[in-house]
Amino acid sequence: MQRLLIVSNRLPLTIQERKGDLHIEPSVGGLATGLRSWYKSSPSIWIGWAGIGRKKIKKEKDIMARLLSENCHPVALSEHDVEAYYHGFCNRTIWPLFHYFPLYAEYSEDFWQAYERVNTAFANVVAGIARPNDIIWIHDYHLMLLPKLLRERLPKATVGFFLHIPFPSFETFRLLPWRKQILEGLLGADLVGFHTYDYAGHFLDSVHRLLGYEVGMGQITATDRVVKADAFPMGINYEQYSNVDQDPKAQAERKRFRKKLGDCRVILSVDRLDYTKGIPQRLEAFSLFLDRNPKFKRKVILVLLVVPSRTRVEHYIQLKKQLDGLVGEINGKHGTIGWMPIWYLYRSLPFHSLAALYSLADVALVTPLRDGMNLVAKEYTATKIDGKGVLILSETAGAAQELGEAIIINANNQEEIVQALEKALEMPEQEQIERNRTMQKRLRRYDVVQWANEFMDKLLYTKKLQQEMEEKALTYEMQRTLASNFQKSNKALLLLDYDGTLVPFAPRPVDAMPGANLLRLLEKLTRNPRNEVVLISGRDKDTLESWFGGLNVGLVAEHGVWIKEKGGGWETIETLTSEWKEEVHPILESWVDRTPGSFIEEKEYSLVWHYRKANPGLGELRARELMNNLSNTIANLNLQVLEGSKVVEVKNTDINKGRAASRWISREKWDFILALGDDWTDEDTFKILPSTAWSIKMGFGASAARFNLSSPSKATSLLRKMVGGR
Ligand code: UDP
Repeated sequence: MQRLLIVSNRLPLTIQERKGDLHIEPSVGGLATGLRSWYKSSPSIWIGWAGIGRKKIKKEKDIMARLLSENCHPVALSEHDVEAYYHGFCNRTIWPLFHYFPLYAEYSEDFWQAYERVNTAFANVVAGIARPNDIIWIHDYHLMLLPKLLRERLPKATVGFFLHIPFPSFETFRLLPWRKQILEGLLGADLVGFHTYDYAGHFLDSVHRLLGYEVGMGQITATDRVVKADAFPMGINYEQYSNVDQDPKAQAERKRFRKKLGDCRVILSVDRLDYTKGIPQRLEAFSLFLDRNPKFKRKVILVLLVVPSRTRVEHYIQLKKQLDGLVGEINGKHGTIGWMPIWYLYRSLPFHSLAALYSLADVALVTPLRDGMNLVAKEYTATKIDGKGVLILSETAGAAQELGEAIIINANNQEEIVQALEKALEMPEQEQIERNRTMQKRLRRYDVVQWANEFMDKLLYTKKLQQEMEEKALTYEMQRTLASNFQKSNKALLLLDYDGTLVPFAPRPVDAMPGANLLRLLEKLTRNPRNEVVLISGRDKDTLESWFGGLNVGLVAEHGVWIKEKGGGWETIETLTSEWKEEVHPILESWVDRTPGSFIEEKEYSLVWHYRKANPGLGELRARELMNNLSNTIANLNLQVLEGSKVVEVKNTDINKGRAASRWISREKWDFILALGDDWTDEDTFKILPSTAWSIKMGFGASAARFNLSSPSKATSLLRKMVGGR
């Protein structure tokens, strides 16, 4: 039976200590509440910290038994580790940095070491529980090293990871001293999920720039496997909020609130106390709104619900003081006897009270400076059963990407918040209903269950994809067969691409010259006259000559423009022209001007624009533009535009590696053919091979090759195996 193992910092049940006794209570917070019903509906186990120290849990055997009976497995953590890991690295380093508050981020080696220790403790517990078929779903920024730690312990496991906070842009993320470890940690997962496409894009960008892995279409090709990254905006338990009018406790609460509020219209603000939520900015904007709109005095009340959070961290203590001061100031300035513009609640409310507030509020003012998702905005919208009510939402909340019918504002722009409040309080009912209905439809469809199901589907799909790739992988066994076939053969042909196949790519083409080991290996392969080795490259003939001229090999330059038989001289197979270069060169020059780091390579019959060293996003954008531009320019010039690995190449039509390779293939009755390549220019070679040939592509992705190997180092080790016994 396939079980689901949910792993998060906190269990959905928390152990609380009151008057010396331990009690079990449901944990508060979006993830625990959101997933509770879903996880109970399938065979699942939840693994997390239970909220108290290691020693206490051990003492209380019945508490432990109760947790286990609810399928909750606690991870025991020492108080010191919780302090440095949770209150330290999680809340003082990652939280501020990932929410674009880099000046608040503390970089402490002690915090980091505790983070590593705690992630390892989690890995040990999960690995002890997991069975081969289980699906492991890890949640949030507390456990970003866990996917890799689990991959080391359980190489075949199905592991998903979801980040519930923003993933910042590369410029911010790179500030973290342990940035590479965090990325490597996450890449232990098969699927990494985010709330929005922007966050997923930032992650892919950082992986590409900091680890150098190829990324594209939400897929990362890491050393020996592919990992997917995608957006899954977290939903809410829609039914629960939209049924608030059938909840007697919520209805009673609503009546009670209404009595106290009189006829006043209600603006609602609900957040945990956090500097990312923009609460002071919101209060200042509300004060300005009252200055500008005296007609609303005595007519509106801002209900400010602030949930205590991280009460021991200095920035939070300061913020609390600032809020207390601001509320007093605004109430003092605008209030009258019998009317207090702000009702300030500093506590956590139970569901029925919160739902009552949502349902009676005319306006929800949700203006975080930065928020991974923001569930309050969604919950408020769901309770608007008659469709009346207006949501004001800042564009820097992840939820804004789904709730476009809200009044969207910039949380730093006071003017905009004031205007939004005016607009909200005067919005015709029909418009309110129309906006809410559209949002509700979306929220109902994509609720928390749908969110979890979609994540699971994509995770299983990724696993299947990996398995398909594995089936194509040239296993160690097959490599032995290949080597032994080669050694037994009487006539062997080796068609070898160079860049990206025998050597990894280097920032400048000239840096990828062959080392002494590679040259020695190639020389060994050619020693036996029964072998024919051909290097089929896109490089110019002078470079190939200077690197390989001394070897007894055949050479193909510029994808087939130039050919040199072993022992012979260079010849060109076509009657080619190169006058077209005068027309194309200036175009490429203008692309070099507009793309720092890019340059032009001139070969005899082709021109190449390289952008490996350019900013990746810009490089890819400019490559698209260049391809478009060139396809118009070259229409009548008998030219083709090819896109290679970080290059755009223009050359005469009808030239390709396959054509060049066929010259050797058709010449003899080979009893062994091996072709190695890495990009799509090598596909032409793969396509013309007889079905018995060994064709191998470096890296993953669609290919006519029969097999895959992950990297150039694997290719050279294969060649080494081949010569080993001979
Ligand atoms: N919440 C609550 N009681 C309260 C105030 C808020 O249970 O008194 C819940 C609210 O329903 C929501 C969550 O706290 O589900 C806040 O989630 P959100 O994504 O808005 O912000 P976060 O606290 O995760 O940053």
